[in-house]
Amino acid sequence: MQDHGPIRIAGAGPSGLAAAIALAHAGREVEVHEAKSDVGTRFIGDLQIIESASVGEPIPRFLERIGVQENFYFRAADWATFYDARGVARVIRSGEPYGWFIRRGAEEGTLDRGLLAQARNAGANVIFNSRLGAEEADIVATGPASPDGLAREMTWRTDEPDRIDVFFNHKLSPGGYYYLFILDGIATFGCAIVADFKRIDEYFAHSLAEAQRLHGFRIPEQTRTGYSYMNFHLKHRATNGNARYVGEAAGFQDYLFGLGIRYALTSGHLAARSILEERDFDDLWQNELGQKQEISLVNRFLYETGGNVGLSLFVRHAARAKDFRTYLSSWHQGRWWKSMLAPVVRRVWRHRGRCLHKPGEHWCRSRDTEMKVPPLGPVS
Ligand SMILES: Cc1cc2nc3c(=O)[nH]c(=O)nc-3n(C[C@H](O)[C@H](O)[C@H](O)COP(=O)(O)OP(=O)(O)OC[C@H]3O[C@@H](n4cnc5c(N)ncnc54)[C@H](O)[C@@H]3O)c2cc1C
Repeated sequence: MQDHGPIRIAGAGPSGLAAAIALAHAGREVEVHEAKSDVGTRFIGDLQIIESASVGEPIPRFLERIGVQENFYFRAADWATFYDARGVARVIRSGEPYGWFIRRGAEEGTLDRGLLAQARNAGANVIFNSRLGAEEADIVATGPASPDGLAREMTWRTDEPDRIDVFFNHKLSPGGYYYLFILDGIATFGCAIVADFKRIDEYFAHSLAEAQRLHGFRIPEQTRTGYSYMNFHLKHRATNGNARYVGEAAGFQDYLFGLGIRYALTSGHLAARSILEERDFDDLWQNELGQKQEISLVNRFLYETGGNVGLSLFVRHAARAKDFRTYLSSWHQGRWWKSMLAPVVRRVWRHRGRCLHKPGEHWCRSRDTEMKVPPLGPVS
């Protein structure tokens, strides 16, 4: 942390750039240091979704409130097809969008490039190829430090019709799910897992084959592939000295489905507010994100322990619900029984080994025996 001069942010992902945008809009001098030569380099132009079910405030209103404009690919989703492990397909629908698709990566039209442009326009100085130590930063937004969830993805251009397919099958994607999104000529296929990381290529190949068997689609010779991971850990404090930790660097993540963008934007904005309003960052995030994270931990426990039978029930209820967004938001709501279950889950999934999460005291699953992963980032 600097005693004077610009506010220094380590990392130009959604969390760091959301903080930079808010601070620069308020007239503060801001430097964002990004270790890589561009933003979004761990992604491949893939489709991701900013979920709009965990909190009542819809995404466009949320973005407006935190001062972010929609200068990137942004497409509402109010339908999808879910598949259970037996291959039964069910259509889900919602009145209001349950999320907005965006794209990620170091290319035009992505969320990353859009936020970069907004930060710069607001006056932030973004410095590439500059790695900043946590002790030198006011805001640490350096993303995941160790794999709690791992995904392999592939993207390509296509002229096939739009599809949002999500496949729930613990055998083909242990603890996770696989998905095919085709929107506006961009296709993304991905397989996300939370165990057995060294076999990610096998899970990817088998889930891709199964998705094609269930509802065929063409894959051209020209595709892009990449590996990336997600972090989840729970802490009481996301500060270390004067440094505020945001986004996945602080473990802020939706543990149920790994949808961390909303957490990243929210926590980045809250860190900026804590500086501007001279308020305690830990109070601010605990108030807005604390209970939500605990609930998502319980949701994840149910997701994993319910097995494929539980996932089939989830798919059936999601399709039967009049409104999928309302159904999904009920999962995110605080219930007395979830509050009672939370300490039990923490105990059952207690520390077993080393972990690489930083800083300080926290809870995580510490599965270092499974941490052998392929090289991260785009591979083709
Ligand atoms: C395959 C995949 C699919 C996903 N899909 C979704 C989805 O559909 N919806 C969703 O909500 N979430 C999704 N997520 C999660 C989401 O992408 C992350 O939660 C989000 O990007 C976290 O933002 P962040 O700012 O914390 O970190 P990041 O986006 O990782 O940004 C961190 C940045 O910091 C830089 N950096 C690291 N160390 C330093 C340093 N010392 N100094 C300077 N710079 C540094 C990195 O190079 C990086 O650019 C997905 C994740 C993966 C892996």
